[in-house]
Amino acid sequence: MSPEELLARAAEARGLARAPYSGYAVGAAVLSADGRVFTGANVENAAYGESLCAERNAAGSAVSAGALPITACAVVAGRTGSPPRGVWPCGACRQFLFELGGGGLLVYTLADDGSVASARLADLLPFPFGRDQLE
Ligand code: ZN
Repeated sequence: MSPEELLARAAEARGLARAPYSGYAVGAAVLSADGRVFTGANVENAAYGESLCAERNAAGSAVSAGALPITACAVVAGRTGSPPRGVWPCGACRQFLFELGGGGLLVYTLADDGSVASARLADLLPFPFGRDQLE
């Protein structure tokens, strides 16, 4: 699946965002190593801290389907009802994705000119907390 196709799936998922408090709708699509795609949108809650990011929703769906590892994650965001714009995953999502896909996982979003922007997760999260630190 091309980065453009994965971004299109993220944009589609964004339409299902529940963002009544921030008005900031986010959509994500993750690609598993076996070629399956899982999507997610942000889900806000009146107890703000309990809100869920789109990327972690998508990645959690991949886990639930036994579709690890994840090799790519596309994410788009923007004001509800506006066209999708580029955004990079928040710090928590970078850590979450690292655990499920490693530093080679590719993150895609939209550049300002609408083209694909990409980065390796290792570049977005250079010093991740990992399982080896629990030993
Ligand atoms: Zn996040």
